[in-house]
Amino acid sequence: MKGVTILGATGSIGISTLDVVGRHPEDYRVVALTARNNVERLLGQCLEYQPQYAVMVEEAAARELRGQIKTRGLKTEVLAGARALEEVAALPESDCVMAAIVGAAGLLATLAAVKAGKRVLLANKESLVMSGGLFMQAVRSYGAELLPIDSEHNALFQCMPNGYRAGARPEGVRRLLLTCSGGPFRGWSRERRHTATPDQACAHPRWKMGRKISVDSATLMNKGLEVNEACWLFDLPPERIDVVVHPQSVVHSLVEYADGSVLAQLGNPDMRTPIACGLAWPERIQAGIQPLDLFGVAHLDFEPPDFAASPCLSLAIEAAKTGGSAPLVLNAANEIAVQAFLSERLRFTAIAEVVSETLERCPSAAAGSIEEVLDHDRRARRVAAGIAAQLMEHSS
Ligand code: NAD
Ligand code: MG
Repeated sequence: MKGVTILGATGSIGISTLDVVGRHPEDYRVVALTARNNVERLLGQCLEYQPQYAVMVEEAAARELRGQIKTRGLKTEVLAGARALEEVAALPESDCVMAAIVGAAGLLATLAAVKAGKRVLLANKESLVMSGGLFMQAVRSYGAELLPIDSEHNALFQCMPNGYRAGARPEGVRRLLLTCSGGPFRGWSRERRHTATPDQACAHPRWKMGRKISVDSATLMNKGLEVNEACWLFDLPPERIDVVVHPQSVVHSLVEYADGSVLAQLGNPDMRTPIACGLAWPERIQAGIQPLDLFGVAHLDFEPPDFAASPCLSLAIEAAKTGGSAPLVLNAANEIAVQAFLSERLRFTAIAEVVSETLERCPSAAAGSIEEVLDHDRRARRVAAGIAAQLMEHSS
């Protein structure tokens, strides 16, 4: 029986993880579940999965959950605050930690799981983008096992040579082909993108995801973050990673070998596949997925990305090439801009402007410790918020 902790249990990935875990009650038990403030959903999950611990980052939400848990006679212990995320990430009872908090908020808890030598299922790509070198060093030093959950990286991982472990440079690999659905605005003119609303940006044609990653998929920043993520996971430079738009989202990514072989992983677009793969690796378990109907899919199309319409993609690839603090500054500025867009204070096309301008004002510097990473992150957020505020004034 394996113990599983889910950081970000109430989100899209968290819910899919519980769905897979719930199909195998003899093999997995839930040790801890965490959320920021969604009491109702976390309570429902506690009732169903009876974890030993539940964490709510916000104190008031934790108090409310504690009361509800007591009323219902559950044994789950409720902890409060961001520090508690790190505690439950390192519990000896859990073998496996799903890192599915969104954004930089997931960094310290994900690292705590790494430092506790867990099998870490990495959905929270932002933590790797922010601290790649330090993160991968910690994976090696503490003997953690890193399994990529992002569907593309999970696909690449599955196409790697036998016995491959994330972080090593794979033998005989020429390049990685990272597929990209193109997002909800594929083919939209710049004018139309200019007035795009949060609901339009979150209406992804293939994947149902949290709102932040949905906006990232619309700007293609998500793919840019994923190029950075792939560089760290597979120890390859950005020059050896190509982005391929594939609107059907059936081929989840491809690995090209020196002899010309190209291996791909295919499947229905459902995150329960990579989640089940990560949980059970190298075994395979049921994940509740319908068989892939290739006759129904009929066509697999591939096209180059529209870099001109998606400046965020180029900015993120440039940041990967620059290195140092550039990727983490990019990530921080993007989080600020996406938040402003989602609360309808910034227009869609201004997200790239905020990111680009922040990168200019925060030139790349060394980020040799987590404290430095957090310093750069805070500074970039302040700068980005200032730029976003100016852009808002001009547009109002
Ligand atoms: P989501 O918004 O649906 O869920 C986010 C979770 O994080 C929630 O449980 C929320 O309570 C928690 N959270 C939010 N802010 C927090 C904070 N400040 N402190 C602690 N917890 C906080 O997001 P999601 O779509 O599930 O994405 C989660 C992560 O997985 C992201 O990094 C995303 O890029 C990655 N990912 C998601 C998908 C997908 O299909 N949804 C695919 C690939 C990668
Ligand atoms: Mg992805």
